[in-house]
Amino acid sequence: IGKRTQELAEKNEALYHTSVTDHLTGIFNRMYLMEALKREFSSSRRHGHPLSCAIMDIDKFKNFNDAHGHLTGDFVLRETAEVIQSLLREQDVFGRYGGEEFVIVCPDTDLDAAVRRAERLRQTIMKSSIGGISTLSVTSSFGVSTARSGDTVKSLLERADDCLYNAKAAGRNRTCRESELDQGS
Ligand code: GH3
Ligand code: MG
Ligand code: MG
Repeated sequence: IGKRTQELAEKNEALYHTSVTDHLTGIFNRMYLMEALKREFSSSRRHGHPLSCAIMDIDKFKNFNDAHGHLTGDFVLRETAEVIQSLLREQDVFGRYGGEEFVIVCPDTDLDAAVRRAERLRQTIMKSSIGGISTLSVTSSFGVSTARSGDTVKSLLERADDCLYNAKAAGRNRTCRESELDQGS
């Protein structure tokens, strides 16, 4: 019975791992990401600690796929995820939000610190010869928001997404932060 119980426990563990993992990149998937964001959001409220959130999207990724093929595109996604993962702090939660979009949840991090972290990631991604093609640099855009009073998980994420949109509109390969002027909106 002991052995059987052990086997079941291992199977459960493996199933859990599968259910929270993005299969292409091996990082957390969107479902886990959203649960973690909810958890960190409540915790930051309870303790009065800051919480910031960054959304990253690879620039012109469609062109990349078109030029080099979908498999190379997949490889770029995996390598990009690896580069980001290697630069994060233990408490940051990093996952794949969708196609070529990633989210980083940064507990105990104010807006300035989160923007600095995003910038460091952006520059490292730009400088690493991801995809193994040195003549081709993968660039990315970031949108960063921080929890404020009246926020919900949804509004926090939406502001980061608005900032990402601004980063794209302003020419890509940059980080945009939420405006601190329109507090309370
Ligand atoms: P932008 O700078 O505005 O973000 O341009 P973009 O081309 O990156 O954005 P768009 O949304 O037009 O295209 C995203 C592309 O990402 C299209 C889709 O084929 C590709 N993509 C999404 N998921 C995957 C994937 O798992 N593997 C590969 N190889 N490509 C993917
Ligand atoms: Mg893109
Ligand atoms: Mg996208």
